[in-house]
Amino acid sequence: MASNGERPVAPGIPDDFDLDAARRAPSSTPAEERERCPHCGSYNISVKTQVHGGPNKREYDGDYFCDCCKNHFDDPVSPEEVGHAR
Ligand SMILES: [Zn+2]
Repeated sequence: MASNGERPVAPGIPDDFDLDAARRAPSSTPAEERERCPHCGSYNISVKTQVHGGPNKREYDGDYFCDCCKNHFDDPVSPEEVGHAR
């Protein structure tokens, strides 16, 4: 094993790839909040914080909206639940 302090570089990743910068880069959702759609498993979900137009304008049930399968749901699959199939 070549454990001289340097991490092995995966093929395909350029030498100047800055992992720390990539992690610090602003993304739409922080990693710890990567909740998933319970219908299709996509991370591409949006939180419907406030519906424009008033409290009675909620067209669909659910606090979340999936941009992938267009479903509306209340409870996304949180990262802690992944891999804990009963
Ligand atoms: Zn979905």
